[in-house]
Order: sequence, then C-alpha cells, then structure tokens
Amino acid sequence: MSKILVLGGAGYIGSHTVYELMDEGFEVVIADNLETGHRCAVHPDAKLYVGDIRDRAFLDGIFKIEKIDAVVHFAAYSLVGESMTDPLKYYANNVGGTQVLLSSMVANRVPKVVFSSSAATYGEPERIPILESDPTEPTNTYGGTKLAMEQMFKWTSLAHGIKYTSLRYFNACGAHPSGHIGEDHNPETHLIPIVLQAANGTRADIKVFGTDYKTKDGTCVRDYVHVCDLAQAHVKALRYLLAGGENDVFNLGNGVGFSVNEVIKAAEEVVGHEIPTVISSRRAGDPAVLVASSDKAKTVLGWEPHYESIYTILETAWKWHRAHPNGFDEDR
Ligand code: UDP
Repeated sequence: MSKILVLGGAGYIGSHTVYELMDEGFEVVIADNLETGHRCAVHPDAKLYVGDIRDRAFLDGIFKIEKIDAVVHFAAYSLVGESMTDPLKYYANNVGGTQVLLSSMVANRVPKVVFSSSAATYGEPERIPILESDPTEPTNTYGGTKLAMEQMFKWTSLAHGIKYTSLRYFNACGAHPSGHIGEDHNPETHLIPIVLQAANGTRADIKVFGTDYKTKDGTCVRDYVHVCDLAQAHVKALRYLLAGGENDVFNLGNGVGFSVNEVIKAAEEVVGHEIPTVISSRRAGDPAVLVASSDKAKTVLGWEPHYESIYTILETAWKWHRAHPNGFDEDR
C-alpha cells in the first residue's frame, strides 16, 4: 500500500483526511508545525513530524527517511479577513511554503500531490452552479494565494513532470461521526461552528452578516459540504493520480445552497432550542451566492457526497461541539 505524506494533517480537513486514509489502509506520515493544527487531532497511529514546510531541510529529511509515494498538501493559512490585513503573511506561508515543498519534491523525486484549493479562487461568480472552467478572479488574498499555488503546480508539472489534482472546496463543515475530531479554529470565523457555539453558550449570539442580499431570504447562500466527504474526495484523487491520472482541478460541494437563516433554523431543530441571533451589517467581500457543480469530481473521480442533508451535517458538528465546547483545548 502506498505511503502518503499529509502536510497540515493536524488541521481540520487534514485530520479528517488522515482518518479516512488510514481506514482505507494507506500508510500515513504527517507533517505539521502545530501553529493552527492540534496535536490531539492527529490520528494515534500516524507518525507526526513537527516542523514547517518552509523549512527545506525538514522536508528533505522526511522524504529521505520515509519512502513517500504522494503528498496531500493542506498546510496553509486560511483566514480570509486576516489575509486582507496581512497579505504578505499569506504569500510567505501559502505561496512560499508551496515553492519550498515543490523544490523538495522535485529534488527527492516525489511524483504526485493532491492540493487543498478553495472556491475562493473564483471570487464573485458569473453564474450558479460554478464550473471548474469558470473565470477565476479572487476577491481576497486568501483566494489569490490558492490560485497562485494552483498555477505553481501547473508550471512545475510542465517542467518536472509532477502530477497534481487541485480540489476546490466550497464550505467545509461537520465533524467525524466518532466525535473524536472536529472543527477548532482560533479565532473561529465560520458560520456553523459559531452558530453551535451560540447554541451551547460559549458565545453570546450569532451575528447574521447582511439581510439585504438578492437571495431567497436576503441572507447569503452557501454550499455546505461535510468534511468526511471532502476527506473521501482526497482519497479518490490520490487513487486517481496513483493509477496514472492526469493533472486536473475539481470542485467539491453538495450542489445545494442554504442561506444563513436556513442554517440557523436547521441548527435550532438539531439542538432543540432557539439560538440567539443578531442582525448585523454585511461582511466585506462576501459574494451573495456560492454553489458548486461537482459533476466533474463525480464523473472523473467517482466521488459521491454521503452527507447531503444539512441536518445530518449539523448533527455531526453538534456532537463534536457539545462534547468539546472549548475545542481541543480541554484535551491538552
Ligand atoms: N456568516 C454570518 N455570521 C458569522 C459567520 C458567517 O452571517 O458569524 C455568514 C457569512 O457572511 C457567509 C456564510 O455565513 O455568508 C458562510 O460564512 P463562512 O465564514 O462560514 O464561510 P465563507 O463562505 O466565507 O467561506
């Protein structure tokens, strides 16, 4: 069975992907600097190297000790707001880190990589659902760095033959059904964890960012896709590359849009009580509607999301938040 290096395997989507890979019998090695990742999120049977992907000697050391067949690359900063106030921090880590990674992969002849990209590469969409061939005009630095990283894979592949898939996620959410790992960002900026923190009392309320969008109820519409479905997509993308698949880009979403108000209403049903809600002004840079077409991932990779109901997604997230109101902190 192939040996996979997961960069950022202690983070939210990375840790869930490690669980999925191990379930499917892959040998997994993790590298994470634990700056935003959590040691407690690391699968107990996976080997963890603590270090930074900007450290070439660190990466070269791993590639020399372990015989790595493919890399899954999650290691990046991901706060959209921070990316606007400190863009160079994002270029230095996301783009700079990927440049070091690719240099090390070329030097150590590691031939394949699955890359964690984002719907933020599209910016304000011209049509819904969004196709991979649609224009990419990011409206924030985070999306700009993800697009730059995608392009770095493309040109490096042309020159050195490394094969890659870029997976553009829509709104990742939910938690592992075991309840052992889940979402824990600091600061938290994402809708579903904030709604559930308002539900369990670790936060006073949920602020609805804008009710005057041209949508079904005036609040923004997003495509919420379960983190375990995303993890499955990484396994499929790895199998595709290991079987000789060509470079490609895939959207990953459920293809259904839920408004902020709909998510809050569904969460109230799941938790069984009202959630304190405050109407607030728009957040800069939020497109009104983002919904994916994932037909390409379904056709080419054979991917099929299993968590299609927003209720089931919220139930897994609630199981995590209820058991870990302070995230991984209490486990330390
Ligand atoms: N949102 C909100 N209040 C919050 C956080 C998010 O109303 O405290 C809205 C946000 O404006 C967006 C949607 O929820 O329309 C999803 O935001 P999130 O940050 O989770 O993901 P994004 O779509 O920005 O990647």
